[in-house]
Amino acid sequence: MMPSIDTFLPTLGAANARLAAVDINAYAKTRNAIDGAVSRLSPYVTHGFLSFPQIAKAVQDQAGFGPQHKFVFELGWRAYFHHVWQHLGDGIFESLHEGILPENAYQLGLPLDIYAGNTGIPVIDCAVQELVQTGYLHNHARMWLASYIVHIRKVHWLVGAQWMYGHLLDGDLASNMLSWQWVAGTGSTKPYLFNADNVAKYAPKAWHSQGTVLDASYEQLHDIAKTASSHITHASRSDLKNSAAYFQVPTCQALRALVKDRTVYLVHPWSLGDLPPALPADALILGVADSRFHAAHPWSAGRWDWVMTRMGQITPHCYAPSFDGLQAALVLASSVHHTPNPHAAWLADLTHPALQVTALPKLFTDVDTYCSSFAKWWKKTALRDFHSTEQ
Ligand SMILES: Cc1cc2nc3c(=O)[nH]c(=O)nc-3n(C[C@H](O)[C@H](O)[C@H](O)COP(=O)(O)OP(=O)(O)OC[C@H]3O[C@@H](n4cnc5c(N)ncnc54)[C@H](O)[C@@H]3O)c2cc1C
Repeated sequence: MMPSIDTFLPTLGAANARLAAVDINAYAKTRNAIDGAVSRLSPYVTHGFLSFPQIAKAVQDQAGFGPQHKFVFELGWRAYFHHVWQHLGDGIFESLHEGILPENAYQLGLPLDIYAGNTGIPVIDCAVQELVQTGYLHNHARMWLASYIVHIRKVHWLVGAQWMYGHLLDGDLASNMLSWQWVAGTGSTKPYLFNADNVAKYAPKAWHSQGTVLDASYEQLHDIAKTASSHITHASRSDLKNSAAYFQVPTCQALRALVKDRTVYLVHPWSLGDLPPALPADALILGVADSRFHAAHPWSAGRWDWVMTRMGQITPHCYAPSFDGLQAALVLASSVHHTPNPHAAWLADLTHPALQVTALPKLFTDVDTYCSSFAKWWKKTALRDFHSTEQ
């Protein structure tokens, strides 16, 4: 049976099929609706199957569009969040500025009814179930879920962000942390609030939430958001996992024997696309994971299975060595290649006389000075090799 386009398969074929299915003309008009014509390319973007220039070219070849198209603008948001991450580093895990309540007014654990998708509020329960079952959620549903968790249930945005990041197949630290901060109001000028009427406008009937706490005016919701709760608990539960069950820690001896005198290409969870064409046929493809990163930012079993299925298609050699163990072994390799990514920052410190680091091409030019808003960044960046085909 042909897989449905709504299924995310961890294959290059599935990524390309989804790219071919993008309906750029319907995108701008319908993208806010839960069943609108969004691309659903994000898991393939996050994990390095597709680059932005590749996406822009494919969509232009099919339909033609200009640099001011809403789709380019949305790609820009991701690039902007990465600009902020590059400049602020781990500062993205802290509130960028004060929100409407002090930090200690928020719980440090996710309430069990949210965790189980059992709040009794249809929009929230549908969103949680879709997130957990598919690893994907429409942008509008992410905004609703985050807003409810922070402003109605008074959970600290970082707790919600880490939970959602771990379940999303497209979980991207920059887009995730900074979007949650945008909703919370610690990375934007005001908190994002929504009500049952907004849900009724954009979501299918099963999500409609009249008669719940969300069936309120924006003034009432603002009052709720700025009122501290007297029931702050810090109970926490998590079924997210680190890399231990998925990657073996190799012995130094085994790793050295494997790489000695070989051309080695390091594959990590964010470089799961095509292998570089210039790689010799007898190169050793070595899958690596940074156990410290995965302990700090764990994933759901579903996300791990997805990533490991693709890694298994690329190489049978998957390990989680320490940085020192990897560096000591790679000294014996004849050359070392990898594709950098900010989520795999540990590889940036590797040294080798024949080291080749080839970044995925970018669609937007880098902006060196830090921009505190998307609008400032958008004015300064430019599109690379983008030939407008707008009529
Ligand atoms: C609370 C919250 C958490 C989020 N967490 C993530 C995350 O972990 N990873 C992630 O990639 N995106 C995240 N986003 C942004 C956005 O929701 C997703 O990128 C988008 O829904 C992915 O679906 P799509 O590929 O169908 O998007 P489309 O609308 O088809 O857009 C095409 C591409 O543009 C980029 N893009 C679109 N909208 C945004 C946006 N608002 N911010 C940043 N990039 C965007 C993505 O790479 C996306 O694949 C989050 C948004 C919110 C509100």
